[in-house]
Amino acid sequence: MLYKNLSVNNEGHLTIAGVDSVYLAKKYGTPLYVMDEELVRHRCRIQQSAIEKYCAPGSMILFASKALSMKEMYRIAKQENIGVDVVSSGELYTALSVDFPAEKIFFHGSSKTDFDISYGIDNGIGYFIVDNVEELEAISEYAGKKDVTQNILLRLAPGIDPHTFEAVKTGKVDSKFGVAIETGQAMEITEKALNTPNVQLMGFHCHIGSQIFDIEPFCDGADIMLGFMKEVKDKFGFETEILNIGGGLGVKYVEGEPEIDYHQCIVDACKYVNDKCDEKGLRQPILLMEPGRSIVADAGVTLYTVNSTKTIPGYKSYIAVDGGMGDNPRFALYGAKHSALIANKASEPADFHCTLAGRCCESDDVICEDIDIQKAERGDIAAVLTTGAYNYSMASNYNRVCRPPIVMLKGGEDRVVVRRETFDDLTACDL
Ligand SMILES: *Cc1c(COP(=O)(O)O)cnc(C)c1O
Repeated sequence: MLYKNLSVNNEGHLTIAGVDSVYLAKKYGTPLYVMDEELVRHRCRIQQSAIEKYCAPGSMILFASKALSMKEMYRIAKQENIGVDVVSSGELYTALSVDFPAEKIFFHGSSKTDFDISYGIDNGIGYFIVDNVEELEAISEYAGKKDVTQNILLRLAPGIDPHTFEAVKTGKVDSKFGVAIETGQAMEITEKALNTPNVQLMGFHCHIGSQIFDIEPFCDGADIMLGFMKEVKDKFGFETEILNIGGGLGVKYVEGEPEIDYHQCIVDACKYVNDKCDEKGLRQPILLMEPGRSIVADAGVTLYTVNSTKTIPGYKSYIAVDGGMGDNPRFALYGAKHSALIANKASEPADFHCTLAGRCCESDDVICEDIDIQKAERGDIAAVLTTGAYNYSMASNYNRVCRPPIVMLKGGEDRVVVRRETFDDLTACDL
């Protein structure tokens, strides 16, 4: 099995955190998102404990909630004493609706609206991560109107290429995100922020990409940021209080990919930053990291019912399931890979080479391309692994398919945390 929390019981059924997946599929119907709550909490704890122990007081993990935005996830983040990133007023609303502490919310995004800015300030969020000069001015103006001072970080582009998929590289100079250091524009916006009323510059942010499997790109990014912080200190006498080095810790999706020791990774990053600060004569900043995927991805499994299996002689075979790009657009978006098995035949050999296809009317509605899986027939249950991140949060109603519910597992018990959509939900906004 790909992960330790997965196993096969005496009936040959896949179990997730000790619970029979076929029982879950029967009880709740399919498609069904299943999440292992204990694994999510464990991931929060090992990452938070590392950063807390090795970095300046106040250092913290922020869950990048775009990976999985729902009330229960903000409740878990609150209980685990970590912060969260939001990238929209909708995510912010969801976090606030479960009383997530506003001061631990960081508002991201490269295209914030006036509403985003006023909604964030009205609700007393901790920080805006400012992407550009116009946003800086808009925040200053609204904060001025409300007679408050808003804490901000500036998003910089350190010009790092972390060798990952094109679509998930974000820290390069040519990027829609942030202000480039290389071009001198980062220094300009810093000077401007220091002289802008009603905003308090607290530090800097960078995010170099996703699915990064070793600590080196983070250290390279931190190195450039610390060099910039030193320059800012020399030029303006400004000591950076907060350094946010972003998210992107990699997750193993298929056999052969490495499995990261997240605790060690973060310890190494902390030590690197601390040593470099000493070297440069900088005060050790509060360090923030923003894991999304590495908190929730491998805690999630999606269960589907198989509707048909077809073999095209001389070409290939397909297994068609009752979900697809509506609940998991990752293949359609990035050609992303997942592992899959037939949950009710988990002890049989995986000797059927096929593509696991979705139900939508798009040729690219594929969940897994060219995989080896158990032979299947109509009514079998297919399990697709590592679907905890960027599945539910990216789900759509394309073809007017209802979005699946999310069931959380804890201590052998199962409970619904997001209910299944109904036809009434689908037409709720139609006049
Ligand atoms: C997407 C994103 C993250 C999280 O990335 P993961 O790969 O899920 O860890 C963190 N920070 C920012 C700014 C992001 O855009």
